[in-house]
Amino acid sequence: MRLKLAAGNWKMNGTTAALSELTQLRSIDATGIDVTIATPATLIHRAVAIAGGVQIAGQDCHANVSGAHTGDTSADMLADAGATAVILGHSERRADYGETDADVAAKTNAAWGAELTAIVCVGETLDERETGATLSVVATQLTGSVPDGASGETLVIAYEPVWAIGTGKVPTLEQIAEVHDFIRAELTNRFGAETADAIRLLYGGSVKPSNATEIFATSNVDGALVGGASLKADDFSGIISALAAA
Ligand code: PEP
Repeated sequence: MRLKLAAGNWKMNGTTAALSELTQLRSIDATGIDVTIATPATLIHRAVAIAGGVQIAGQDCHANVSGAHTGDTSADMLADAGATAVILGHSERRADYGETDADVAAKTNAAWGAELTAIVCVGETLDERETGATLSVVATQLTGSVPDGASGETLVIAYEPVWAIGTGKVPTLEQIAEVHDFIRAELTNRFGAETADAIRLLYGGSVKPSNATEIFATSNVDGALVGGASLKADDFSGIISALAAA
């Protein structure tokens, strides 16, 4: 059985005051599911101290363990601060920093070296969706971004259509199911059924309390990666409750 996962991504939002949202989340009943918040790196250490059962994640890491990389954070540093996971290959990093699949694979290996779970993001642009390239884009990203040796403990895949992130637009449930079923099949071909069945697949892109229940009922959706609606405990707790009830 895959434990369902509600993962929040605060992106570049949150200073000390935002920690009160985490304090509120502690009292939400999340029995039977995992809840993770990827805070800004500056908050990880303090977030871990107050998060209770909520796990704290990073939003990126460098591929190297240490060295002359001004401004970067290594996977070891995230783990040392108390993070248990790291988001890698988010479309904003692929777009803003030109991260390639090979970069994401190297970072994933670094995350695994620090015993962090890698939440690897894949997803098509609107142009790719409209030209019928979605599945081939996702296949290429999966192959290139996920190194050999994945397991259900070390890897989570987040399917995040770029055009659905922060836009209020959500694919149809059929479109989500098609891609999630495809990802499961691709993982099965590569890693075998036992490993593939243990890897959690998250949907990400404009998930809100109002659409969470139907998304969580969709084939091969094991939870969500949530941006905007993870910033406020009131919103995120609605998503947590929907997932716990799914
Ligand atoms: C994201 O950035 O990973 C995301 C899914 O954002 P939002 O929920 O705001 O669309």
